[in-house]
Parts: sequence; C-alpha cells; structure tokens
Amino acid sequence: MFFRISARTLFTRIFGVIIVSGFVGYLFGQTFLAVSIVSLCLLAWHYNHLFKLIQWLWQGKSIAPPQANGIWGRIYDGLYRRIRKQRLKQKQLNERIRKFRDGAEALPDAALVLSNELIILWGNKKASKFLGVRWPEDIGLRIDNLIRFPEFSKYLDDGDYNSPCLIISPINNELQLELRMMAYGSDQILLLARDISKIQRLEEMRRDFVANVSHELKTPLTVVRGYVEMVQASETALDPHWKKAFTTIESQVSRMDRLVEQLLVLSRIEHNVDADNHQEVNLSRLVLTIIEEVQWLNQDKNHIINNDIAPNISINGNEHELKSACLNLISNAIAYTPPNGIIDIRLRNDGNKIRFSVKDNGPGIKPEHVNRLTERFFRVDKSRSRNTGGSGLGLAIVKHVLNHHHGELSIESEWHLGSEFIIYFSPEIANK
Ligand code: ADP
Repeated sequence: MFFRISARTLFTRIFGVIIVSGFVGYLFGQTFLAVSIVSLCLLAWHYNHLFKLIQWLWQGKSIAPPQANGIWGRIYDGLYRRIRKQRLKQKQLNERIRKFRDGAEALPDAALVLSNELIILWGNKKASKFLGVRWPEDIGLRIDNLIRFPEFSKYLDDGDYNSPCLIISPINNELQLELRMMAYGSDQILLLARDISKIQRLEEMRRDFVANVSHELKTPLTVVRGYVEMVQASETALDPHWKKAFTTIESQVSRMDRLVEQLLVLSRIEHNVDADNHQEVNLSRLVLTIIEEVQWLNQDKNHIINNDIAPNISINGNEHELKSACLNLISNAIAYTPPNGIIDIRLRNDGNKIRFSVKDNGPGIKPEHVNRLTERFFRVDKSRSRNTGGSGLGLAIVKHVLNHHHGELSIESEWHLGSEFIIYFSPEIANK
C-alpha cells in the first residue's frame, strides 16, 4: 500500500483549513482569532505527535508505532513498513551468515577469515583444534602472533600465496599442516589449514620403500653381473645362441643397475640428506668439467657441442646434486638428438638470476607432454627412451635438486625442431 501526497493537495488542505476557519470566524466577526485558534490547535496536534514519535524512536520497546490518524498515521505506517523491511533483510542476512558458518564448520579444514592487515576476524572450530585459536580472546590478534614459525613469517613476507606453506601445528607436534591463503571479498584473506599428516606419512613410507628396495636390489644385481661377466670372459667358446643370451642378460642387468642407481640418487635427494652440506660451488668450473666428461657419451652421436660459459659464476649449494642436475640435461640432449646434431650449452648471469641452458636441435617435445616431463618414470616415447637407456627419472632428479637450490626449470621445445632446458637460480643462493 502506497501513500502519496502532492504539494498541491497539501496546500489545498492548509488553505482549506484557513479559509473554513476564517469563514466561521468571519460569521462571528472574529476572523483572525478563529484562524489563530485553529492554527494553534493544529500546531499542538503536530507537536503532540512529534513528541510521541521521538519518545517511540528513542525509548519505545515495541516496534509497533503509536496509533494516529491523518497524516501522522501515514507517517507511522511508513516508518513501520521500513522497520519491518529492515528486520526481514536482517533476518535473511543472519540466515545467510548462519548457512556460511555451518558450511565453514562442516569443512574438514581449519578456516580463518583475516583482514588485509592479517588480523583474525573469524574462524571455525577446526581453527581452534589445528591452530589453537581461542574464541573470542584471539579475535583482533595478528595471525603471526599466534603462528610463530620462521617459515610462516617468510611466507607472509614473500606474499606469494600461490603455493602452500607447510608447518607443524603450534599446539600438536604430530599434526603437519598445509596452509593456503587466498583473497576473500574485497579486503579480507581466507586462511585454510589442512591436516596432511597422513599424506606425509604415506609419502615417507613410499620414499623409504623405494630407497630400501633399490638398496636391496643392488647386491643381487652385482652378483648376477659378476657371473655374467665371468662367463663372457671365460676361455671356453660359447655356443652363439648362449653368447647372444649372455649379451642380452648383460645389457639388461646394466640397464637395471642404472635404474637402481638413479632411484638411489633420487631417494637420497628426496630425503634431503645433504641439506647441511651446502657450500660455495663454482658453477662455471663444474659445467666445464661435465662438458669434458660427456665427450665419451658423444662418441657415437658425433654432435657439435658448443659452449658459452661465463667465468667465475658461483652459487651456494650441494656440488654433487648440482652436478647431477646439469649432467642430466646435457646427457639427455646428447641421447635424444639424432647423430650430428648441434648442442649449445650456456651459463651466464642474466640480470639478477643465473641462467644455465642446454639447447639442442633434436626431435623436440609436443606441448602436451612438456608439463609431465619432471614426473617420475614419465617418458614421452617409451621405446625410444628404452633404446637410449632412459629410466624417466632424470628430470625428476633435476626438479628435486632445484627445489633444494631455489631454482626453476623452464622447458622450451618445438616439435621436430629442438628443445631448450633452462635452469634459473635465484639471487638468494647466487654468490656472485
Ligand atoms: P630419461 O631417463 O628417460 O631420459 P628424463 O626424466 O631425463 O628420463 O626425461 C624424460 C623424458 O623427456 C624422456 O624420456 C624424453 O622423452 C624426454 N626428453 C628429455 N630431454 C629431451 C631432449 N633434450 N629432447 C627430447 N626429449 C627429451
């Protein structure tokens, strides 16, 4: 129901009252007095309702406004309608908040809503369980006052929330948490903490299993290889059929030996056993040594290997791991490029990053395979890789080595034209 009053109606009414009261006063010879009395009565009536309105607005307990007729009745009705509308909106909003909270409580993760200044605004019950946030005492605290781990402080300082931050729960040493932060609304941040203890334990079991199996395989392989070599080296001439069989056994044992060796290297790097063994490594010298060492690998292929190595580039790291990473890229280029190819090996200081690249004019890699190359055992072409003695572990090793050295691997490849594998080392570990 709408009530509309135009300026014309209002003036008509006011003049109507004045004219009627003036006319009645005129009949009694008291025009001015009659108009004044009627005006005063009207003023008193309005004031009375004004007081009632103020009283209701400031002291009234009920949402129903005072009863009135005429224009004041309309005013009260209008106000009442607005209040009811407001209440309905409030109720709907509360309902929405309740649903959001129920949803957040049903999450298996801890959820915290933070302001842009990292002040805790709200959180679910899991936030108390995983992170020890107390309600309502901790509302208004900065999150880094509650989670006081160097890795978390660094994560906040870096401000790169694309990747997660792994921490141990501040209230339970056995709980490993993966924290993720994301923009929420226009000026808030949502922090989610996921319990990854089980996944981490499984991952550890997997790593231990691979390391143990590889280790256990070493001895039988050495024994088999020893006997095969003994038979091959024996004076008695072997039947051609057996000779072929022993050659095959020897090559397969060698392949398995290489695979086991690479598995051991990978699990050693994954376990990060050499984490404390970082020192200044002269990368320029290391790369030149590798180039010399791989010449024998190049004997059959006869590639042209060009190098452009800037002198005295050093980084902080583990020499053994770094050698393994660079060697893998160079030996892959040699292995996968058809004979008489061209391989360019470069090392230089590229602005504030160190750039090591190996470029070949080999078969290239299709774009859909590029992202999967660093997965364990991933090989684009299994038969070709088998011929080259590949295990699919080389680039996985490179990836893990780079994780330990704040490095990044970039792969640029064009199908049928060639590939370039580039390693960028960040300035954090660059010495010069
Ligand atoms: P592998 O031991 O099989 O070489 P890697 O992890 O080193 O394993 O490489 C994974 C796969 O990436 C290889 O099987 C090969 O298909 C492809 N690859 C690696 N380097 C090159 C390269 N320079 N040119 C073409 N393909 C490559």
